[in-house]
Amino acid sequence: MEETASYPGRKAKEAAEHLGITTVGGLLHHLPRDRREARTVSTLVVGEQATVVVEVRSISSRPVRRRGMRPLVEALVADETGPLQVTFFNQPWLVKRYPPGTRLVLHGTYELRNRFRVSSHAPTADEIGAGDEVAHYPTAEGLSSTQILAAVREHLGAARLAPDPLPGRLRARHRLPDLPSALIAGHSGQLEEARRRLAFDELFYVQLDLLRRRSRRAIEVGAPALEGEGDGPQSGLVERWKSEQLPFNLTSDQERALGVVLSDLGRSHPMQRLLMGEVGSGKTVIALAAMLRAVEHGQQAAMMAPTETLANQHFATLQTLIGSLNIPIALLTGSTPAARRRDMLGKLASGELAIIVGTHALIEDDVLFDRLAVVVVDEQHRFGVRQRSALDAKAAGSPRESAPHVLHMTATPIPRTLALLGYGDLDVTELRELPKGRKPIQTHLASGERDRARAYERIREELREGRQAFVVCPLVEESEALQARAASAEFERLEAGEFEDFRVALMHGQMRPAEKAAAMAAFAAGEVDVLVATTVIEVGVDVPNATVMLIENAERYGLSQLHQLRGRIGRGEHASTCLCFGPKESERLTAFAAHNDGFKLAEIDLQLRGEGELTGTRQSGMAAFRFAVMPDDGELLERARLSAREILEQDPELEMAEHVPLREALERARGEMTAIAIAA
Ligand code: ADP
Ligand code: MG
Repeated sequence: MEETASYPGRKAKEAAEHLGITTVGGLLHHLPRDRREARTVSTLVVGEQATVVVEVRSISSRPVRRRGMRPLVEALVADETGPLQVTFFNQPWLVKRYPPGTRLVLHGTYELRNRFRVSSHAPTADEIGAGDEVAHYPTAEGLSSTQILAAVREHLGAARLAPDPLPGRLRARHRLPDLPSALIAGHSGQLEEARRRLAFDELFYVQLDLLRRRSRRAIEVGAPALEGEGDGPQSGLVERWKSEQLPFNLTSDQERALGVVLSDLGRSHPMQRLLMGEVGSGKTVIALAAMLRAVEHGQQAAMMAPTETLANQHFATLQTLIGSLNIPIALLTGSTPAARRRDMLGKLASGELAIIVGTHALIEDDVLFDRLAVVVVDEQHRFGVRQRSALDAKAAGSPRESAPHVLHMTATPIPRTLALLGYGDLDVTELRELPKGRKPIQTHLASGERDRARAYERIREELREGRQAFVVCPLVEESEALQARAASAEFERLEAGEFEDFRVALMHGQMRPAEKAAAMAAFAAGEVDVLVATTVIEVGVDVPNATVMLIENAERYGLSQLHQLRGRIGRGEHASTCLCFGPKESERLTAFAAHNDGFKLAEIDLQLRGEGELTGTRQSGMAAFRFAVMPDDGELLERARLSAREILEQDPELEMAEHVPLREALERARGEMTAIAIAA
């Protein structure tokens, strides 16, 4: 199928290239859109992708200020249920092509304020004078749906001869048609049958690629095997710490996770595990145990957090958890004074320091370790891919031969489907259970002055009981400085007004690290009753006596961010309340108030927003799929994952005769998967 497809004219050829049609194979994979899946304008949901069939009401072009940019085309379109505003970029000719009255099929994403971001468009089949049964294809300038149809008809015969890289037993098992049948079906109106097969291919190749990369790394790169209790001076440290210092029993989820992590550490290739734990589920304890295992074996450990506040907090928590055990531990951040830093780096390089906690400051070039064996990356989704792996290079020996064990941690639960896609090369362990005695947080949606007065009264009640409160200020997206100003104003207003009888403090991103640390320390020590803050408190802050949180303009936050914020309360023995200001009819806020389970909220988030938007996915640079749709194809993904694993177990390099076509197809597909490769 590598034969080049033929089109009349250079323009058509360019258009075809733009659409990714350069070979007969590419042409045959260019499926028509399914009009049956079209929605009416009134049923569109913000953030979701959809297909609509509409009529153009008015259309005009508008120059763009940026130099070198072609004018925008703006159109008002409508179906019988309502109007829609659409913008086309870079296609000024559309003004002539789609005059008022033209019926269009648009595919894209519905956005706020009744706008529709178009990802593909075409006149309806009746518009181009074909019968209604004729499928319409996504098009580009210079190549119409009819031309594509003609080319497809000419080449469809070739499809019958197309070799199928997928082994027959695999197709049978997943009830998938062979490739020629799928392609023919796709161009003859049986779109779903074709789509399922092609979606499987996409998912299967991604999984093969990720798993192959992972197993290669496991073979090539070694790590210190930290098996058992070690035999140096610190032998038996983990057990001693658990029995003598830990003030509570581990939850059974924690026990299980710890077992898995310790067993990973015992192997001679590097652990790459993602510990995905509900907010407050106690990940820090697992991290400490892993680090102590390194110390037990005479090795070093490092823990990296995305913000200075969080690093400070971890440092304090770890010191408390370590208790009276004698373990040299230090904190390194951007605000560590130069002399202290120099001293610390000396002790790290000599091996005198056993554990170091810090921010990005840890990955600077002159930070060298003597024997780094365990790395913990907290809130790992906050780091770039390169930052996450920068500590790998700091292990003893060359990074090609030896790397530390890495425990990635996140409190942003990623639905399993996405975890498999974006983090396919990490092992995943979940912590769902919360420590005993935690009371679920009650969340109330509020709006208007009456609710506001009642909310402040509710907070004062808690404060009189000796509890503490967070007030989270509205998100100002334009700049950190504006955000800080808004928070300061709110602080002054509350301090002089609603909370005049209480001790109020302020914390925002523009304060100096020392000021932030001081505010946080005062709040943690109970010297401050109300902390007025921006989202700098989003992660990690652990003050069990704080039992109430007021969130302003909650609709501006994403679901996972809201969940993170709310996770700052409900950490102690007292019942907690979250007062959430925003439109009560908001689907997102209603879901937020109804569920305390972060995994559940992540699934809902995925439903509401579609896969591309979710935190983590976008950051991992994951490629958009052409045929697979998440989360709907989650089951297909599980199948693809399983089959990929089985095949690689049997034939790691895909060398068996029956797998050679598969290997070749994978190499071809890899070009399209570069975005995923960057993430891995
Ligand atoms: P997160 O998973 O959000 O990072 P932390 O590790 O900060 O959670 O733990 C939250 C709080 O719960 C801390 O105060 C910690 O000491 C406490 N904690 C952790 N594990 C347990 C447990 N098994 N029993 C009781 N309290 C626990
Ligand atoms: Mg934490």
